Amino acid sequence: MQVRPQETVCNATATADPVHEVLEPREVQLGPRTIMVDRLLPHRDRRMIGAWCFLDSYGPLSVRGGPGMRVPPHPHIGLQTVTWLVSGEVLHADSVGSRQLVRPGELSLMTAGRGIAHAEESPAAPPPELHGVQLWVALPNESRDVPPSFSHHADLPVVRDGGAEITVIVGSVGDARSTARMFSPIVGAQIDLAAGASVRLPLDPAFEHGALVLRGSSTVDGEGLVAGPLLYLGTGRTEVELAADEPAVVLLLGGEPFAEELVMWWNFVARDHDEIVRVHEEWERGDERFGDVPDHDERLPAPPLPTTRLRARPRAR
Ligand code: MN
Repeated sequence: MQVRPQETVCNATATADPVHEVLEPREVQLGPRTIMVDRLLPHRDRRMIGAWCFLDSYGPLSVRGGPGMRVPPHPHIGLQTVTWLVSGEVLHADSVGSRQLVRPGELSLMTAGRGIAHAEESPAAPPPELHGVQLWVALPNESRDVPPSFSHHADLPVVRDGGAEITVIVGSVGDARSTARMFSPIVGAQIDLAAGASVRLPLDPAFEHGALVLRGSSTVDGEGLVAGPLLYLGTGRTEVELAADEPAVVLLLGGEPFAEELVMWWNFVARDHDEIVRVHEEWERGDERFGDVPDHDERLPAPPLPTTRLRARPRAR
């Protein structure tokens, strides 16, 4: 979510080979009284990785005496949100009645389906440091009207190998599979590397992949990577090697290249301009499609619609 959202349209043209593309982040303010984030997806040069269509990275930042995270109730359609923390705590509340304190190493997965509203806030007495990522996964056509739901996964599978600890967030790495319900072939994992660690992760060659260093520094397929940019790795890989001289935390994302054209605007993942106009109007008049978040009176107004029609652009330049 941002103050003045820009139109983002995605359509499918996947890279057919393994590549290295370094995608630099751009800084975005989440709202008038809240934190700055690094936006990595959608990126001008690469709008999605599999069904992963949105990636914000934030922190580590101090939340003592500052605003911390303050995102009032706002709507989503057509996507799942993945809230993932490296440190700190975030309180999630939504219009299907969920209220969940999110902690590092635990997956909070919200399926918006046909419509949901939620709020994300730093708790009253948070740990001093907040550091994490906010991800969206686009729902394919046949699933995008599923009823809204929320699930929390505190017992994700963890694999230890070569000084690395691999936490499978969604999908699977080798034989280790997350129980989170996803709607397209996808993977997300956090790899914690000890100093001097080296590990080869098995990959599905039909997937495209990307890697983001969250802490420390690492090499990914031989490419030196520090916190900041997202390394896009393309498709056609059966494995990837990660190594680190110092302790590092790396996020791996992948998925089958998403074959459907999307129109993303503000918090909505839709299929065309008219759907965005409709859902914008429904949020503005408080349509029951989104429900109410308990104990939250404030709600985030939608920004004005763009004056031009939202239209398709290539997925990659
Ligand atoms: Mn949200």
